Amino acid sequence: MGKKKSDGEDGGKRRKKGASAEGGEGDLARWAAHAAELSRPYRVTDGKGFRLDRFDPGDTGPLDKGDKEWAAEALAEGVEALAAFQERLYAQDRWAVLLIFQAMDAAGKDGTIKHVMSGINPQGCQVSSFKAPSAEELDHDFLWRCAKRLPERGRIGIFNRSYYEEVLVVRVHRKILDGQKLPPGLVTDAIWEERYEDIRAHERYLARNGVAIRKFFLHVSREEQKQRFLERLDRPEKNWKFSAGDVAERAHWDAYMHAYQEAIRATATPEAPWYVVPADAKWFTRLVVSSAIVDALSGLDLRFPAVGPGERAALAAARAALVAD
Ligand code: ATP
Ligand code: MG
Repeated sequence: MGKKKSDGEDGGKRRKKGASAEGGEGDLARWAAHAAELSRPYRVTDGKGFRLDRFDPGDTGPLDKGDKEWAAEALAEGVEALAAFQERLYAQDRWAVLLIFQAMDAAGKDGTIKHVMSGINPQGCQVSSFKAPSAEELDHDFLWRCAKRLPERGRIGIFNRSYYEEVLVVRVHRKILDGQKLPPGLVTDAIWEERYEDIRAHERYLARNGVAIRKFFLHVSREEQKQRFLERLDRPEKNWKFSAGDVAERAHWDAYMHAYQEAIRATATPEAPWYVVPADAKWFTRLVVSSAIVDALSGLDLRFPAVGPGERAALAAARAALVAD
């Protein structure tokens, strides 16, 4: 996927300022249009024939290094737009939004979540991280622990890893499957296809219940991951992030890429699209993710609940009483 400097008016760059929380619907609509344009090249809504090698981890779309400052400004505006949409989401109380993040280690999941969601009201948002399952979790079906953390209507739920680990790390390390306490007769060569089918059905079910789902694979290159691990070793304030186990996982890189490709092929749908986000340049990763979320929210027709004539009269009466008090 090559760079496309200045195709169209400004190659997907957006100039207009001002999508503030109080900001007009016009500002939000304009921002949303730019966000859609910027994130569209990375969206996969139909997995058939999907190939990961068609996506370049180093891609920075219409931008290049010199645009970093511009990108930071655009991200700040994205954060503002997100805050404005979130207020409407919360007030309307109809849709829930589920954002799933998957990636190899050091691809920047944590930093992306932190930056992109920095402007939103914490009361309307919940981040859940899924690590290796506990004994209690292994006593249940594989969707159970994630189902418990689904967002309520009006809220945004963020999954930092998810049930997709069940067809990623578990597929790469078959011995994990042996520890999942499944009845042996149910573990066959069809297990991955069955899990994809169950995930698709689960996501379709959620979509039909008003959960808007977007899934992000932060696509970092093996070389860039190496540089980030080296940085964790070389900079004392980053030492705590280093894990020797993460380096060992690099030996399985190709198996992971294959597992990601298969998972995206089987589970990219219009109601739950994947975004394959280039992750070698953090500033671009964050901009694409923020744009994709703004695009998703703008498609939900979020509005503050309208006040009818009867309620307006009641508000006027309440106001008069308050003033007279
Ligand atoms: P960070 O390293 O930035 O703290 P992380 O998400 O990598 O974040 P870790 O505690 O390092 O967190 O790793 C979690 C590990 O748990 C990952 O290696 C992941 O593959 C593993 N994991 C998650 N879900 C499952 C699962 N269902 N079965 C087995 N392993 C899982
Ligand atoms: Mg880790």
